[in-house]
Amino acid sequence: MAMPWGIYVHPDRLQRPDLGRLIVHELVHIDQWRRLGAVGWARSYMGDYFRGRRAGLKHHDAYRAIALEKEARDVASHLAG
Ligand SMILES: [Zn+2]
Repeated sequence: MAMPWGIYVHPDRLQRPDLGRLIVHELVHIDQWRRLGAVGWARSYMGDYFRGRRAGLKHHDAYRAIALEKEARDVASHLAG
């Protein structure tokens, strides 16, 4: 989980092979907060999520469709494999 001041990782995930990808993903969210501000980030994130839900997507699919999540996944895939 990313917060404006750092990233929290559950101890169970520290040994997982995808730790690098997770950290890059969360760093992208911190960069997004810096670019958009907390309010702008939340507006974009929640706006995309609720647009997805109103369009009939289930929770997980609406989450996956959030543009800020897509960006974080894309950068993490590119940089961390
Ligand atoms: Zn994310």
